[in-house]
Amino acid sequence: MKISRRASEIAPSLTVAIDARAKELLAAGEDVVSLGAGEPDFDTPDFVADAGVAAIRAGRTRYTAPTGILELRKAICDKLKRENGLDYSPDRIVVTSGAKHAVNNAVAALVDPGDEALVLSPHWVTYPALVRLYGGTPVVVECPAEKGFHPDVEALERACGPKTRLLILNSPCNPTGAVLNDDDLEAIADLCRRRDLAVISDEIYEHIVYDGNVHRSIASLPGMAERTVVVNGVSKAYAMTGWRIGYTASPLPLARAMGRLQGQTTHHPAAPSQHAALAALSGPSDCVERMRSAFAARRELFLRELRSIPGLSVPAPEGAFYMFADVAKWAGARVGGRTLAGSADLCEWLLERERLALVPGAAFGREGRIRLSFAASEATLLEAARRLREGLAILDAEAE
Ligand code: PMP
Ligand code: GLU
Repeated sequence: MKISRRASEIAPSLTVAIDARAKELLAAGEDVVSLGAGEPDFDTPDFVADAGVAAIRAGRTRYTAPTGILELRKAICDKLKRENGLDYSPDRIVVTSGAKHAVNNAVAALVDPGDEALVLSPHWVTYPALVRLYGGTPVVVECPAEKGFHPDVEALERACGPKTRLLILNSPCNPTGAVLNDDDLEAIADLCRRRDLAVISDEIYEHIVYDGNVHRSIASLPGMAERTVVVNGVSKAYAMTGWRIGYTASPLPLARAMGRLQGQTTHHPAAPSQHAALAALSGPSDCVERMRSAFAARRELFLRELRSIPGLSVPAPEGAFYMFADVAKWAGARVGGRTLAGSADLCEWLLERERLALVPGAAFGREGRIRLSFAASEATLLEAARRLREGLAILDAEAE
């Protein structure tokens, strides 16, 4: 059977592949420690799970509107008003099968073949892949480590050309944790208005911030709501990754276009999951803060552990639940007659030798780094740090 060029050329998601491999090894009884996937280890709060079960029992198991049930779209508007100061009507909301699918819909509706999309790097694996899938060209603009991975807006401006149509933002950022501050947002908004760029603003980690960092949506800046697609969802804030509910908030013509796309593809996200998400967004929010403060405590513990590993440099993330550690020191390390040329080789070796699953920086467009998720129990984090220390010490010993 001939596979289409589009499907042949799409790069596999390394975060998904590493998570699948680690889960497979665990199922086979292997002693694997996985800090691969960015997935809260908490259970979905009881009141949310109960709402999903109740929806199934009440027969809410039929097709819904392609853009999602009206009650949920209203609850999303209330949330956007309450938490982000944004005014949307329910006809501007499209409920999707996870935030990844929300990004997919937005790129599909905004990018024509030949269009360029600016992607800040390090970037989540999926953005350049989706831009390419729809025939666009991702233009990657580096965020310097010396600036805490905050964007260099002058470099963004230099990367803009006549075909530049779109800027994809992600704050708090996966994998660096960088949270765009007011200065960043104002400079970026100014650029987008002058260059007439559309923005996809992926805000899935909005609640997971530390040290007084505050998330602010770029759509709340003057003149920005009309050019921005806000992407969000319940996966991270409510520990609901497997329920697959995300959403977009956008200008009406775009919402209609994404609704049409959805009507011809997935039809709509699973009905019981929509009812669970409705409970999450309209229920008490103390569970979100409880999980955030657990992540904050784990961040302290993990930073302390990782920073005590000789040669490893680990910046403190401002948000999200990842450490993006500098492992450049071990680039080209030789072990057992083999050379670990880049971050992918290093991660492969750590999985083989230490049974430790991490994601190479290369997946996010940055060599010399590894990403460690700290959305895991303290015991898991301590064991992961022990294995990493042991693995890197083996490489150091071989180098002597
Ligand atoms: N955006 C970012 C930045 C992510 O890290 C992820 C991964 N979970 C998603 C979107 C996708 O979220 P969901 O699981 O809701 O599709
Ligand atoms: N977003 C998470 C991650 O970066 C889950 C996997 C994925 O969707 O890419 O690990």
